[in-house]
Amino acid sequence: MNDQAAGAAVRSLAGLVVAVDGPAAAGKGTLARRLAAALGLPYLDTGLLYRATGRRLLEAGVDPRDAAQAEAAAHALTPADLERGDLRGPEADMAASAVAAIPAVRAALLEWQRAFGRTHGAVLDGRDIGTVVFPEAPVKLFVTATPEERARRRWLELRDRGVAADRDQVLSEVRDRDAQDANRPVAPLKPAADAALLDTTALDAEAAFQAAWALLRAKLPGRLG
Ligand code: C5P
Repeated sequence: MNDQAAGAAVRSLAGLVVAVDGPAAAGKGTLARRLAAALGLPYLDTGLLYRATGRRLLEAGVDPRDAAQAEAAAHALTPADLERGDLRGPEADMAASAVAAIPAVRAALLEWQRAFGRTHGAVLDGRDIGTVVFPEAPVKLFVTATPEERARRRWLELRDRGVAADRDQVLSEVRDRDAQDANRPVAPLKPAADAALLDTTALDAEAAFQAAWALLRAKLPGRLG
């Protein structure tokens, strides 16, 4: 089913929250954006909140592990921060992951995410949407792929943006960020007990969407046409 056909067949999903979690470069952003369009729901890339917080600190010359400054930066975020053009790339990746390990930063961003999802329903992608932000979400996907495949995608993405990167270096950054996200004491990256797992290692974006749509149909019987 294409997105238009999928959208037309959707019935009364107002207020629905779909949680899409998983490690870096597993394809969850592309998938979540597409699901949101097909379901007629708003979309939030929650990683942008952590990226924008980290970027504010880097810009001020502050170590992103500085808890007090990071908390202040999270509280000071404005919608314009999320539109910045410098939120991607290795430096922004690691700064985001560093501020994301600080409990006060997570607390500052939690209500923001909940308010976004509660207003009209939403598809949110991140690391802890199904476990912490919306543990009651009726639909949860945990999207994964092998570190090698995720590094390959990240490398291609960088290349397309004209950034020369070393493949082994990208793989080692993917592994470092996985470890940092999975081992932090607060809201570590892990699938919710009731999440459906979707391994995209051998799937392109279209196949991942079709697989996710089939999982959604099973979770929402009669509501997706
Ligand atoms: O998803 P993305 O790679 O843009 O996220 C950047 C970083 O933000 C992640 O490595 C993770 O540390 C953090 N993050 C998080 N919780 C979320 C979304 C992102 O901890 N819900």
